[in-house]
Amino acid sequence: MRTTTAWQGTGQSTTLQRASIERRDLRDDDIAVRIDYCGVCHSDLHALHGMTGKPTAGMVPGHEFTGTVTAVGPAVTGFTPGDRVAAGTIVDSCGECAMCRIGQENFCYQGATVTYGGADRIDGTTTLGAYSREYVLRAKFAYLLPEGLDPAAAAPLMCAGITMWEPLRAAGIGAGSQVAVAGLGGLGHLGVKLAAALGAEVTVLSRTPDKAEDARKLGAAALLVTTDEAQMKEAFGRFDLILDTIAAVHDLSPLLRLLAMEGTLSVLGAPLETKVRLMDLTFGRKNLSSSGTGGTKHTAELLTFAAEHNIAADVEVLPSAQVQEALGRLEKGDVRYRFVLDMSDLDS
Ligand code: NAP
Ligand code: ZN
Repeated sequence: MRTTTAWQGTGQSTTLQRASIERRDLRDDDIAVRIDYCGVCHSDLHALHGMTGKPTAGMVPGHEFTGTVTAVGPAVTGFTPGDRVAAGTIVDSCGECAMCRIGQENFCYQGATVTYGGADRIDGTTTLGAYSREYVLRAKFAYLLPEGLDPAAAAPLMCAGITMWEPLRAAGIGAGSQVAVAGLGGLGHLGVKLAAALGAEVTVLSRTPDKAEDARKLGAAALLVTTDEAQMKEAFGRFDLILDTIAAVHDLSPLLRLLAMEGTLSVLGAPLETKVRLMDLTFGRKNLSSSGTGGTKHTAELLTFAAEHNIAADVEVLPSAQVQEALGRLEKGDVRYRFVLDMSDLDS
């Protein structure tokens, strides 16, 4: 076993404490990564609050990280110690089902092994996330970080970014598309950048006009205030795709009304369960969809696209010891637009 340092849940809401944790010895197809940066995702908050129903004591959050390879197993090709790498929400999958065969391991029929709170496929232990200094994972689920991408700003591509990228690609978004992004947070701001880079006209749907200036800087044509009935009415029937990243339970009807004929509402944030009025889909043959992070095929594609278009997150980097501050401020919506923890302080 390898010992490393992590920020670990105490079971008391979002309180984390510094602790020593074990990582497995390298299997043949594993790499060990010294984690340099890890993004703070709203899913980490949901998990710490027990929204997924699991106890949080002992959990280590964190599922979008970049770092440096420190060791490789004997069967690993494509990585050598010293390489800069990125990894996201999935660290293993069956590799054999129809989903794995097409590079959509996020939908593995046997269930992908998620980066934290998952069950290791071989020894059954619970995975511990990347709010830590080291991670050991199958090389297949790590990606060389393209030249030119800043490792701190690139970390959020691995969850927030790919969660936006898969539905954008699935909907065939390109020049002439009308895309809206509901909720301008960690996911949303990357959604705006990626959709704009694909050639779409992008509109942000936000609760207040406060982020209008930011929305334009990120590449949106406009910001529409969802609490303003007149603005919502004017946008009726406009969008081909709405990426809904709202991190709280909300009514989908107002968003469905904004879709064009056969448009798609992709609900990516909370709620996990919701009520839908089918009549909101009937008129205009609209689609209600969802997505969950991404598989290896699209993740590799996203990293290439991000490097080509110089896209990464707008980040506030904090020493990892300030993780509690990051979680507290994220909960209040006080971040523009992603906290990233610098893990180097875990060495001292
Ligand atoms: P975030 O940075 O907190 O952004 C969420 C945004 O939602 C906020 O900026 C805010 O936008 C809006 N919002 C928050 N509370 C709201 C409320 N009560 N009513 C209406 N709008 C509200 O969170 P994130 O990290 O981007 O994550 C967003 C959601 O996606 C979370 O629920 C997260 O768990 C989920 N997620 C899903 C996947 C997946 O694979 N499907 C992956 C990652 C995250 P405005 O201020 O602009 O209104
Ligand atoms: Zn996430």
